[in-house]
Amino acid sequence: MKDELIKKIFPNVKDYTFYEEKYPERELGEGKIVTRFAPSPTGFVHMGSLFSAFVASKAAHDTNGVFFLRIEDTDQKREVENGIENIVRDLNNFDIKIDEGVLSSTEEIGSYGPYIQSKRKEIYESYVARLLKEGLAYPCFLTEEEINTIREEQERNKEEIGIYGKYAKYRDLTDEEILNKINNGEKYVLRLKSPGNINNKVKIKDLIKGELEFPENNLDIVLIKSDGLPTYHFAHAIDDHLMHTTHIIRGDEWLSSLPIHIQLFQVLKFKLPKYAHISPIMIMDGDSKRKLSKRKDKEAAISYYHELGVDKDVIKLYLLTIANSNFEEWYLANPREDINKFKFDFKKVSPSGSLFDMEKLLNISKNYMSYLNKDLFYEKLLEYTKEYDKELYGLIVKYKERTIDFINIERERKKPRKDYSSFSEVRNNIWYMFDELFIKEDKEYVFPIDISKEDVNELLTKYLDNYYNEDDSEEEWFNKMKELAQEFGYATDMKDYKENSNKYKGSIADVSNIIRVVITTKNTTPNLYNIMKILGREELYKRLVIFNN
Ligand code: GLU
Repeated sequence: MKDELIKKIFPNVKDYTFYEEKYPERELGEGKIVTRFAPSPTGFVHMGSLFSAFVASKAAHDTNGVFFLRIEDTDQKREVENGIENIVRDLNNFDIKIDEGVLSSTEEIGSYGPYIQSKRKEIYESYVARLLKEGLAYPCFLTEEEINTIREEQERNKEEIGIYGKYAKYRDLTDEEILNKINNGEKYVLRLKSPGNINNKVKIKDLIKGELEFPENNLDIVLIKSDGLPTYHFAHAIDDHLMHTTHIIRGDEWLSSLPIHIQLFQVLKFKLPKYAHISPIMIMDGDSKRKLSKRKDKEAAISYYHELGVDKDVIKLYLLTIANSNFEEWYLANPREDINKFKFDFKKVSPSGSLFDMEKLLNISKNYMSYLNKDLFYEKLLEYTKEYDKELYGLIVKYKERTIDFINIERERKKPRKDYSSFSEVRNNIWYMFDELFIKEDKEYVFPIDISKEDVNELLTKYLDNYYNEDDSEEEWFNKMKELAQEFGYATDMKDYKENSNKYKGSIADVSNIIRVVITTKNTTPNLYNIMKILGREELYKRLVIFNN
């Protein structure tokens, strides 16, 4: 196409070399990954998109490379209000550091911008102008109706769907014919004049999917739509070239478009980046697997975990578990290690995708929560209850020391207790430590053996009056429990008890559990010795009074 006609189409177009100079190679050095998260601004980050963003940022940061956020808003029908702000906030909440790119709808950092596609119109025009000039693109005047008719015909004839060969009616118009049509006000798009042949094969090695082979692209795909904005395909080639993206990490729904992208990089004479196509997270639906859906599955929403009190670090651990098959083993061996020390490896990503497993996620959470030190646990509990349980929040603020002492029972040791898999479960285990709740809550006392209220009273009164001493060591405490058991006719030796159970009312385990039930109403609690010590003598007497009311 002649320059005059190109000027007619894009009156102020700059030569593409302007942009080549404006965005020079990055000077990062060998082996650094430059990659991006490139969502449409359609709302919140969900489990699936978080997974892509997390993997991409990890891959970049593991090599001290660059992770940038680009907003792909060329399909303006799909936009939602505050879309960009929500994405930035969600990434921030997961400590996914944006080195470059969009920070809000009005701010960005980095010298390869603008990072919002709708602000890059002139850039796309320069490159499409170059293709027009080189005879590798053309204006296509097919109407939507005509395209539908073509598709119907192709479907009937079982032919490849799209604009190519005889269907590419406007491929070879002369400049004059084009000019006439434009002057007539006919609407058009700009299409690639594909040099491909469907009988040729293209080969590519995907970092996750491995060696792939496709028929070459022969479709005259749209580059610039009639609204003047580029298609995903064209914008991808231009942006990732000019932003010097080394790795395209994206969902595998794009795999089928890969021949188009390879061809675009070829005709534009751009260096092809590396591709890593991630499979979606799957979920079982009855007997079959399907993609985790942000519409159908509550587990896809990040807010779900927030409300449940599953820490964001747990989500990161879980995402790494499904991202790299060797992570779980690493984490088991290094449970208290900073996960940034684990290096992401494309080769360890499952090419077929992982099945979402809530049980596993909660199990990770259980381990994670058990490894938190008491102060951090307390802080996280504060944060959670402040939002979701104001009453408990008030109490743990008021009784900070007591709360931390309780939290610390059998914590901060090699094999800590594993009581909780989310912060929403904490209330159910801690409420009895606070008088305010203990008095108020409905209580049901279920004893381990059949025992009358009088006998419980007698046992507890004796115990508190004659045996219990706040200053006792755990060993002394236990010995006294034994003496009490003996005095009341309970076995102190479990082996003996098993053999001669009819000689006893019960065992020492029953004695301590009877005490536990009166004090906490629960059959299992963290170490009773510690609980009693934290509550203190006075409080223990009070619990007996409450039991009798
Ligand atoms: N905007 C595309 C999407 O949301 C980005 C794909 C890519 O990373 O290239 O699917």
